[in-house]
Amino acid sequence: MATHWTTLVLVALPWVAALAALAAVVRLAIGRRRLRRQRDQLRVHLAEAREALQARAAPLAGLLSREAFEERLDEAADAADRGGDAFSLLYLDLDGFRAVNDTFGHRQGDALLRDVARQLAGDAAGPVCRVAADEFAMIVPGPAAAARELAAALPGRLSRAPTDSAVGVSLSCSIGIARYPEHGGRSLLLANAALAMRSVKLAGGGDFADYDPQMGHDARDEMALLADLRRALERGQLSLYYQPKVDARSLQVTAAEALMRWHHPERGMVSPARFVPLAERHGLIGALGTWALEQACRQAGAWRGEGLRMRVAVNLSAHQLRQDDLVDRLVASLDAHGIPHGRFTVEITESVAMEDTRVTRDAFEKLREAGLHVSIDDFGTGFSSLASLRRLPAAELKIDRAFVCDLETSSDARAICEAIMHMAHTIGLRVVAEGVETPGQRDLLVAMGCDELQGYLFARPMSAQALGLWAADDGPDDAPEFRPSLFDPTQPIAL
Ligand code: C2E
Ligand code: CA
Ligand code: CA
Repeated sequence: MATHWTTLVLVALPWVAALAALAAVVRLAIGRRRLRRQRDQLRVHLAEAREALQARAAPLAGLLSREAFEERLDEAADAADRGGDAFSLLYLDLDGFRAVNDTFGHRQGDALLRDVARQLAGDAAGPVCRVAADEFAMIVPGPAAAARELAAALPGRLSRAPTDSAVGVSLSCSIGIARYPEHGGRSLLLANAALAMRSVKLAGGGDFADYDPQMGHDARDEMALLADLRRALERGQLSLYYQPKVDARSLQVTAAEALMRWHHPERGMVSPARFVPLAERHGLIGALGTWALEQACRQAGAWRGEGLRMRVAVNLSAHQLRQDDLVDRLVASLDAHGIPHGRFTVEITESVAMEDTRVTRDAFEKLREAGLHVSIDDFGTGFSSLASLRRLPAAELKIDRAFVCDLETSSDARAICEAIMHMAHTIGLRVVAEGVETPGQRDLLVAMGCDELQGYLFARPMSAQALGLWAADDGPDDAPEFRPSLFDPTQPIAL
């Protein structure tokens, strides 16, 4: 028996030893990996700390460090409390600075910041500091009017600032103003000025605004809306409505533009004019846009199956154009639903289309290769040249609603519409007028040679089902604005 155990031990011993050695090696490896991870984390922390230290120790030339600035803010507040002069705090954020960093690199971005710092230090009557990357704060002594005057002048002055950097761009800025003591005690003043700055950003930037307590409320409301928007897709609260475009002469439906709708359980219908920019700012537009594209392709396929021959149009945001696989996905979806590429329109706003970065150029090239129908939306609000328009693979221009709206009352609006039409037709583009609300506007546009019309005069955006019925229906006899229809299963109409 004893021999038996001895043999067993002798046989098992090397295995036990080998297993123990293996466990030790594994433990060592895990331990090393953990150590390496901790070391990497430490390095990141150190780098961050070093950066923070450098930012604090070496403020941009002519500007105070954050600590020194806060001391001056305390002194100004103390002086005002003792009956001295009131003062304003300006919070300034550069518009579009991130794009400079992304496009030209951080070195050029830093050079641009030095330019801005020099300009601000030269303009300021009080201390200035850099609060964060491209955010600055400034104390302006004296009456509110002095602060507003400076705030009104700064965006223009910065855009003309001489530039150190090789970047041939000049920047504008958004400015918020908070007054001491009306707009908050010492600890809230900077935050409230920043809130006012953000409200300017939301409105498009390049301007200034005084702090208003409502802004705090608006910011909280926006955060609540954003939280709901994050879940809107999965909760099935989004849908697409469709608004027809009609041929200006025959009044036949030529296309249907897909427009997103959000049915919020408490707020009711939330306008895309409100939630699309919110989605763009917070990285949600990718998911929403992908959903809208797929939905629109599916609907286009369904209409095609029913014999309704018209284009379906979707709106693309700047973010979507930057997605590498956008056109591939779109083409796959069109093919899956049997839709000829030329029967599907992507609407891209003029300002995005004219960006002319490598990314937009690539996206347009892919759209051209895929044979998609491209429409330049909100045309007339940007600064397109004939040359830049010819470069794009666009087939259609949509005149912005603002010009259509003023057609009957403004000779300028008429001249602009005529000029756009002339220019577009010269280079072979079709022109669509959006936002047509009155017969007067329609008649002027038809007389100018506009190709297609879209607006409440003909139809509001409606559900896919309603559009199908509407396009198939003769409509009431007293509605001469609209003649049906492309809904003809046996006679597809060539577009
Ligand atoms: P947009 O592309 O310029 O769309 C035209 C807007 O004008 C639509 O507003 C439409 O309902 C409205 N409209 C049409 N005819 C008339 C009219 O006769 N009078 C007036 N006053 N308005 C008219 P909506 O549906 O609220 O959409 C607003 C914006 O939201 C759109 O402007 C577009 O920029 C954006 N949007 C909507 N859906 C999408 C989407 O799926 N993706 C993206 N990226 N943006 C979208
Ligand atoms: Ca559009
Ligand atoms: Ca538009």
